[in-house]
Amino acid sequence: MKLIIHGGFFSESEQSSEIKLAKQNSLKNIARLAFEYLQHHSAFDAVAYAVSLLENDPLYNAGIGSQIQSDGIIRMSAAIMDGETQKLSGVINIQGVKNPIEVAKKLIIEDDRVLGGVGAKNYAMENGFENFSTEIPQRRKEYNEKLKSNGKGTVGCVAIDKNGKLAAATSTGGKGFEIPGRISDSATVAGNYANPFCAVSCTGVGEDIVSNATATKIVTRVTDGMTLENAFQKTFEELKAIDGFAGVIAIDNHGNIYHANSYPTMVFASFDGKNFEVFH
Ligand code: ASP
Repeated sequence: MKLIIHGGFFSESEQSSEIKLAKQNSLKNIARLAFEYLQHHSAFDAVAYAVSLLENDPLYNAGIGSQIQSDGIIRMSAAIMDGETQKLSGVINIQGVKNPIEVAKKLIIEDDRVLGGVGAKNYAMENGFENFSTEIPQRRKEYNEKLKSNGKGTVGCVAIDKNGKLAAATSTGGKGFEIPGRISDSATVAGNYANPFCAVSCTGVGEDIVSNATATKIVTRVTDGMTLENAFQKTFEELKAIDGFAGVIAIDNHGNIYHANSYPTMVFASFDGKNFEVFH
């Protein structure tokens, strides 16, 4: 049993700030809580739980604290993938719910498993979710000041459970100031992918991650026999060739974890019941 979570990137201005410290502490706490949960639940349930805790913390750009888009509205995207069944479900540009990842998880039982916009919101309302504003004053301030705060604070989790099953979950408020209707990588197989061999969650510039097919490539390479490290190396070389910006966490079916970022400002934490690794 093991898991690794990420809290996206922090901006240069946060390099040595209180926010960075707060993010490190929050990640450590959430990694511990999610690991405890993983002891009695599947990887699929645990990645959703971890991501919902991350969504509930306004430090990150997902759920509460999501970025505001160019028209002043918050739209969120999230996806979850079960490595065993290889089913992905997700919501794209959903508004007014507290935990997009929980709506994504609920959709796993449906035939229509990725819903967008109003349809996603309607589905949430019909399935017991409450109307909830995820806006925090800080984001409105940034928006009002037209500060494009880099928008890199998406969250994600990949885990292996006691039966060796893998899962991945990712949630985002987008990149901030995007054209309404933009679709990020987070609810696609480029940003969130898992199968019985490997599970991956990405953060960074969605367009780069989609162009590079990052999560899918890493999982496929590991499935075909590459080590995690080699799969990352090759995929990041290809990302570099398009000047891509991404951070990635992964776990394989032997419980190996790996992470990399094209700019070293991603925050993440891993926990295996004994050892914490907390970065940046
Ligand atoms: N990948 C997200 C997007 O492009 C942003 C992020 O990871 O911070 O919307």
